[in-house]
Amino acid sequence: MSTTLRPPAGVDAAAMGLLRDMLEENFAVHTAQLTELTVYGRMPGHGGYGPLTLDEWAAHHRREIADSADALRRMADGTYGLCRICHRAIPAGLLRAVPHAERCVPCRRLP
Ligand SMILES: [Zn+2]
Repeated sequence: MSTTLRPPAGVDAAAMGLLRDMLEENFAVHTAQLTELTVYGRMPGHGGYGPLTLDEWAAHHRREIADSADALRRMADGTYGLCRICHRAIPAGLLRAVPHAERCVPCRRLP
């Protein structure tokens, strides 16, 4: 596993900064939404949400928080942009669309 701090192929330093900003914003937004749902869950009537709906939304926000945190960790340790399965560079276009992507296109099709 590489320990380089260079951006992945096809991603310059400015794009890397934008991707980091997107990941940090995603982390913050979903943390705020999870906090809000936690408050609703404690209110009588759950703020209008059904308990199952609240659980599903909470799980979604937890997954987004974990994915963003994991991608930020990979940026810090220099493995961001490398496929977790085959260790090849993830295309820059895929990273722009899915900043927390951890698999290249062929490996995304694997189970
Ligand atoms: Zn791959």
